[in-house]
Amino acid sequence: MIRDMAAGPRVLLKRLRELMAEPLEPQERLDRIVRDIAANMVAEVCSLYVLRADSVLELYATVGLNPNAVHLAQLRLGQGLVGTIAASARALNLSNAQEHPAFAYLPETGEEIYHSFLGVPVLRAGRTLGVLVVQNKTMRHYRDDEIEALETTAMVIAEMIASGDIARLSRPGLELDMSRPASFTGIAFNEGVGLGHVVLHEPRIVVTNLFNEDSDEELRRLEDALGSLRLSIDDMLERRDVAFEGEHREVLEAYRMFANDRGWVRRLEEAIRNGLTAEAAVEKVQSDMRARMLHMTDPYLRERMSDFDDLANRLLRQLMGRGPETIAASLPKDAIIVARSMGAAELLDYPRDRMRGLVLEDGAPTSHVVIVARAMGIPVAGQMKGAVSMSENGDPIIVDGEEGIIHLRPQPDLEAAYAEKVRFRARRQELYRELRKKPSETKDGVKVDLLMNAGLAVDLPQLAEAGAAGIGLFRTELQFMVASTFPRAEAQEKLYRDVLDIARGRPVTFRTIDIGGDKVLPYFKGSAQEEENPALGWRAIRLTLDRPGLLRTQVRALLKAAGGRELKVMLPMVTELSEIAQAREIIDREVRHLSRFAHHLPTSLKLGAMIEVPSLLWQLDELMQSVDFVSVGSNDLFQFVMAADRGNTQLADRFDPLSVPFLRVLKQIADAGARNHTPVTLCGELAGKPISAMALLGVGYRSISMSPASIGPVKAMLTELPLGELKSFLDDNLSGPAANLPMRALLQAFADDRSIPL
Ligand code: PEP
Ligand code: MG
Repeated sequence: MIRDMAAGPRVLLKRLRELMAEPLEPQERLDRIVRDIAANMVAEVCSLYVLRADSVLELYATVGLNPNAVHLAQLRLGQGLVGTIAASARALNLSNAQEHPAFAYLPETGEEIYHSFLGVPVLRAGRTLGVLVVQNKTMRHYRDDEIEALETTAMVIAEMIASGDIARLSRPGLELDMSRPASFTGIAFNEGVGLGHVVLHEPRIVVTNLFNEDSDEELRRLEDALGSLRLSIDDMLERRDVAFEGEHREVLEAYRMFANDRGWVRRLEEAIRNGLTAEAAVEKVQSDMRARMLHMTDPYLRERMSDFDDLANRLLRQLMGRGPETIAASLPKDAIIVARSMGAAELLDYPRDRMRGLVLEDGAPTSHVVIVARAMGIPVAGQMKGAVSMSENGDPIIVDGEEGIIHLRPQPDLEAAYAEKVRFRARRQELYRELRKKPSETKDGVKVDLLMNAGLAVDLPQLAEAGAAGIGLFRTELQFMVASTFPRAEAQEKLYRDVLDIARGRPVTFRTIDIGGDKVLPYFKGSAQEEENPALGWRAIRLTLDRPGLLRTQVRALLKAAGGRELKVMLPMVTELSEIAQAREIIDREVRHLSRFAHHLPTSLKLGAMIEVPSLLWQLDELMQSVDFVSVGSNDLFQFVMAADRGNTQLADRFDPLSVPFLRVLKQIADAGARNHTPVTLCGELAGKPISAMALLGVGYRSISMSPASIGPVKAMLTELPLGELKSFLDDNLSGPAANLPMRALLQAFADDRSIPL
């Protein structure tokens, strides 16, 4: 008789469904499940081992082995056949198990009489939760359809484990791996501490409807969904839209290839024929793949596998008709978003008031999403490899954006310690709020302007909250970076107008678009060739002078937005003075144009330059004469003076801006400004750390611009600082012979001696 290969698994799944619906105690349910599996597969043994948090696999149910061994027999991860399956996330199919080198004999089970062995991992979203085994006395090799059937059954068991049903059988101290606390160390991207609950970005959709009623119908649904998926990818590829050039295109090409991959589709169809719904089939095939991906080391293949992962998610969404809107609506109040990677615009889709933190598996401190998160004041930790597959929606989680650590499902004492840390930070914030009322003056009465850096509409409420004297750097390129095409002139004008409205007369310095370098616009590929050194390449003012249309549009938007008010415009990455002259010509032409059409013009227009390129250091007086103000971009200036890439984490702490040479550079600039009566500001990250802000004041700066969160701590330092004393202390140390002085330590000691809070 020819056996209908799919009938067996289908019957079994139907049985399992009935068992799941019955009001049974968890142990009873497990016992019945293993009995049914054994009967269906004509096996003499069926056993389930569940992975505990201490990496031990415990026998939870069996038919065929000694029943007294249940909850007693155990194997470490990697030990024996069962441990090997769990560690490798791969099935083992053996006709004579005892001959396998990993075989470990557990006398309490009485398993010595069984020869053939088939074990499959119990997987959920790429994590191994346990191992399901069948055994027979005869030496036989299990067929592929039997392996498939056991894997499908294992998936049902994975759902039972994830639902918490089986966890009720665990003994105190021997909890299941699913609820194991896990900590990850990566990189701190934005400071702050967040406690909350996991929200998986593009979450793996939890498939609860596992069993199909009609395989043909499910196959049709899969076919339809695959069809629409392929169409949508082709559609995106055909749009001759600049947004899809370069990397985007490559990813889409890869998606198209995968969506047509016969092997993938065949595995999906097979799973449906075995009785799963189309959704459950996608989840199963993907789970197998994810588990294997965890053991793959080739970064290229891993990347391709994650493309597959994304594609499977898209397919699931097609099948379930779910969009991102529903996800945002169901966000908890203390959401911590956990993502493999994310675009900046996607972060903006989440409501700010419900987000407590962001965790990224990838990312760099300069990636757009991190810039936006920083602007929104969200703690961010990145490079957390494996965080996504270890997290479940709703898991408690802590993000420590100061240390670059996350704690998943933390123990109560750790949670309490962090809650205290959060309370401490809140008290400090309260103190800073109090400080807002105090004048921004040193202890000896010298007035200092504390300004804030901004770049997006989401930043603006912080102007009042932080008590900033104005916006010292408005990074206009951020609007371009979070968009998918060039923002239209009207959108630019609106943003600038909003900024000026909210600033209510406080000064705002708009920097013209600073793109290029690490700030790439996916939709703009102006340069024909790949740049070998983009930081030294075609960027900022160099780029906008070569594409004057960009600059003209922006300048016109700025002039219109500032009608009847003061306008300050600043040029990034100036290298030689002729660049300022050229930009001024473009601006003047726009002013003439607007006045010809009787537009309301700004009451005054000031043009400034950033000092970021060392060439300006040898023409400081001429520079000061040719602009209305300057601002030191210490991030770039430091990287060029030290020849040390600002984005290279390996070099991050190698050179110190608070060293004699760099402090001398900073002092020369401040001196030149004073000599020429040209206002000088500094707007790099240096301004935001109390110790370096103190040094800046000591070498002559009276205006510094920083992220809004830094204003409180810097002001706390400022109001306790005897500036006269610090000035003579620094003058002495910087003007003497160029000894290798530990300036940071000296500054720290200066502050400690005077109880200045740093
Ligand atoms: C700088 O370089 O210091 C600066 C403020 O500009 P950005 O960080 O945007 O390059
Ligand atoms: Mg810069």
